[in-house]
Amino acid sequence: MKYISIQEAIEKNSGKVSIRGWVHRERGSNKMKFIVLRDSSNIIQCVLKKENFTKQWNEIDKLQVESSIMLTGTIKEDKRAPSGYEIQVNQFELVGKSDNYPITKDQSVEFLADHRHLWLRSQKMTTILKIRSTVFGAIDEFFKGEGFYEYHSPVFQAVQCEGGSDLFSVDYFGKKDVFLAQTWQLYAEPAIFGLEKIYTIAPSFRAEKSKTSRHLTEYWHAEMEMAWATFKDIQDYGEKLIKHVVKQVLEKNKTELEFLGRDISKLKPIVTKPFVRMTYTEALKILDKKCQMKVPWGKDLRTIEEEKLTKLYDVPIICTHYPKKVKAFYMTEDPDNPKVVLGCDFLAPEGYGEIIGGSHREHDIEKVKKRLKEDGEKPEEYEFYLDTRRYGSVPHGGFGLGVERIITWICKLDNIKDSIPFPRTMERYKP
Ligand code: ATP
Ligand code: MG
Repeated sequence: MKYISIQEAIEKNSGKVSIRGWVHRERGSNKMKFIVLRDSSNIIQCVLKKENFTKQWNEIDKLQVESSIMLTGTIKEDKRAPSGYEIQVNQFELVGKSDNYPITKDQSVEFLADHRHLWLRSQKMTTILKIRSTVFGAIDEFFKGEGFYEYHSPVFQAVQCEGGSDLFSVDYFGKKDVFLAQTWQLYAEPAIFGLEKIYTIAPSFRAEKSKTSRHLTEYWHAEMEMAWATFKDIQDYGEKLIKHVVKQVLEKNKTELEFLGRDISKLKPIVTKPFVRMTYTEALKILDKKCQMKVPWGKDLRTIEEEKLTKLYDVPIICTHYPKKVKAFYMTEDPDNPKVVLGCDFLAPEGYGEIIGGSHREHDIEKVKKRLKEDGEKPEEYEFYLDTRRYGSVPHGGFGLGVERIITWICKLDNIKDSIPFPRTMERYKP
């Protein structure tokens, strides 16, 4: 018996098929059993008549949702059935029994989170995870296609890069100055002197104490770093990457986007239209004029301001030249205005906010040291990093893309937690 997927069976359209999967829904009478069977490809209605299964009827009659079964039968079109097809079954085998599956209709968000290992099987989660798989593949394909090497940095680190407040410390054989990586950056910059163009997709960890719909404590971070890069190169690569990812999802996940009710016309401009580029200072003027929001110069943009700003455009905004004091120590001071840095945030439309943070890297070792001190850090701890500025330094830069952030936006999810199989937040680290 050769088992094919439900989708392949549907495409076969008629004749004998053998399929296997899980009972998605079931109902029956004393003569018939209707099963909607699910596998990773689709769902299909299957009909089992008592007269054909006298010996097995007791087992079939008691079948509950999520039991795993294998069956053979004849497939035909049936407009009334959920996916437009039905199978008249003549062979049936129960593989794994399922009793009183805990997940039923209308359960609370908390209950579903406690049963995340089971909720993963839901059509909603499966659909999102298929898009997630496309996104990871597309990122990888993009960077390889642009001549970047895949490179790996340590997760245990003894330095901070994005501010000390959200570091996770680890008990490292009794030593307390070891943290989980917030970013690969300080270990990526040393590698560009050999490989020039590098990227990674790896978990980053941040002890986010605030409850927002955009922050996880463990998230997947797609990062790139590049020798000889200008600030414009960094922005261009970010724009091309996002265009490529969205294009791939539109091509490969039409069914999934439809299932999620995603308005595809909102994603199409991302592929075809140039992104909007503006400086932080221009952004403040637009916020004032068009959104009646006054932000004093020097303050970082808050979620609410980013949200209002991104709703004005149908493509991401690349916001540049932020005040130095709101950005990390490694960003290049603008040669034309030392109050701002050559850093850029990519803000996704429809109110989704920051998906990429990037910058040109400060090459002046004295400036890097000074800013580390201002952050309360000891430059001595960063000697290995400072060597990148001592031996043949070149202009360079890079960015980090929050993979769950882009999935959340592409799928138009309410909360980032649904973009990852087992979300980790301040309250949730189980199951
Ligand atoms: P935010 O202001 O939203 O907290 P950030 O400025 O701390 O972001 P960066 O340090 O620039 O973010 O990190 C690079 C990218 O990683 C961000 O653009 C975002 O897409 C993603 N990111 C950062 N923190 C998180 C998080 N806690 N959960 C998920 N993704 C995150
Ligand atoms: Mg942050």
